[in-house]
Amino acid sequence: MRKVCIAGNWKMNMTPSAGAAFAAELAKAVKDASVRVVVAPPFVTIGSVVKALENSSIEVGAQNMSDQVSGAFTGEISPEMLKDAGVTIVILGHSERRAIYGETDDFINRKVKLALSHDLDVILCVGETLEEREGGKLEEVLKRQIVEGLKDVSADSMENIIVAYEPVWAIGTGKTATPDDANSAHAFIRNEIEKLYGKSVAESLIIQYGGSVKPSNVKDLMAMEHIDGALVGGASLTVEQFAPIVRYNK
Ligand code: PEP
Repeated sequence: MRKVCIAGNWKMNMTPSAGAAFAAELAKAVKDASVRVVVAPPFVTIGSVVKALENSSIEVGAQNMSDQVSGAFTGEISPEMLKDAGVTIVILGHSERRAIYGETDDFINRKVKLALSHDLDVILCVGETLEEREGGKLEEVLKRQIVEGLKDVSADSMENIIVAYEPVWAIGTGKTATPDDANSAHAFIRNEIEKLYGKSVAESLIIQYGGSVKPSNVKDLMAMEHIDGALVGGASLTVEQFAPIVRYNK
């Protein structure tokens, strides 16, 4: 049985004080949740959110991480810093990091392995652009991002990996993949994981859908066989929207 995970990616929103107040309110609103819940604040907001969630089962994630352990890397944040701050999971390979900051599969793979070696779980984001989808490249792109993003990751470590399928054209646009389209991309990903790691790893893998998830579409998405959670951007920024997403099965 796969344990559903719903994660909120706050992106560059929420100051330390706003984030703490929001987290405290969210914790109350979802205290009966039966799923794994993660919020990923900006780096400077992590500390206040960890404190606000001390008595909650909501986990605090990071939106990114350095590919280096320590040293002269101005502006970077190491896995050890994240662990020490109370982070349990890190989002890597988000399409905004790939598109705006030029992150490559190889660079993302180095971060994935570094996070795992520091006992951080990983949400590895994959997904195609509209141009790639319309050009018939969906499977080629997903396969490349999976195979290269997980290069040299052992089967044992796969229990610490979540894959988030996020079609780039559906992120922040209000356009959602239909549940059937999302499910078939998830099935493709699971099949690629089976080829790499075998059936039992593939069957246990949590695959989140991301791209304009809202209270109004979460139930239909979550009803699909291969959709095991959601990575939520815009709708994770208000309790009114994020709580019903987390409580989609209540
Ligand atoms: C995201 O950025 O991961 C995301 C899915 O954003 P949104 O929900 O706003 O489309």
